[in-house]
Amino acid sequence: MDNNCIFCKIADGRIPSTIVYQDNEVVAFKDTNPQAPVHVLLIPRRHIASIAELTPEDEPVMSAIFAAAQNVARQAGVEQGYRFLTNVGRQAGQSVFHLHFHLLGGRDMTWPPG
Ligand code: 5GP
Ligand code: ZN
Repeated sequence: MDNNCIFCKIADGRIPSTIVYQDNEVVAFKDTNPQAPVHVLLIPRRHIASIAELTPEDEPVMSAIFAAAQNVARQAGVEQGYRFLTNVGRQAGQSVFHLHFHLLGGRDMTWPPG
């Protein structure tokens, strides 16, 4: 738990959010500034800054995140097509330094992203 981390507080229920899925390892909640009709953030409950910090011990939580993503996509009705990504570092657009994956769907996506 990082007391200065907004996503730790969301995972802990100390900051309100619209949670769409949670289990022992993972919390998924709606992004407050959605970039698509479906825009959900999936985070580990444990504070990890980004995938650059992952260690082999984090393998179970990463499996849990990918399994949760399948659930969230199905629940949102976008399982036929969605984007699942994480920004690593400021240059890539990371603004919150608690690992999170964006699940975006419900519209056509372009490639490459900007
Ligand atoms: P990043 O730019 O780090 O990849 O993504 C951070 C995301 O978190 C942004 O899409 C932003 O809209 C979202 N976000 C930032 N603060 C909050 C918050 O307090 N609640 C929720 N639900 N989303 C947030
Ligand atoms: Zn955190």
